[in-house]
Amino acid sequence: MRPKGKNPVSKPVQIAIVVICLAGAAFFLFNFISAEPANSEDGVPDEYHYLCSDSKCGNTFSWTRGEDLGGRQFPDICPKCGAPDGYQAAKCDACGHYQMVQGHGSYEDPCPECGADMPPLGKH
Ligand SMILES: [Zn+2]
Ligand SMILES: [Zn+2]
Repeated sequence: MRPKGKNPVSKPVQIAIVVICLAGAAFFLFNFISAEPANSEDGVPDEYHYLCSDSKCGNTFSWTRGEDLGGRQFPDICPKCGAPDGYQAAKCDACGHYQMVQGHGSYEDPCPECGADMPPLGKH
């Protein structure tokens, strides 16, 4: 006599579940990779946005490639207070809100302020 009470889920069903899970994971992974904010094919963004590294200043500023830095040595230096090493930011085209870019170039999209779609980093 074989012991009763075998697994209520039959083998083919288990296999189907595994396949579906794998397909789902692959789909998710693919989406994740393609959603990676590419500073695209040409690789060089035209416009850079920054948040002042001094939280007391809180200034936000941008620099477009080729634009005069107005005596500053680097575009990430705050033009208002002179603090170096401004944080990279993403700027909403619709409302002009700047948000700090997190590690790996991620930021909130749509814009947390107005809900508009954010432009790709450093581009218009
Ligand atoms: Zn500043
Ligand atoms: Zn916005």
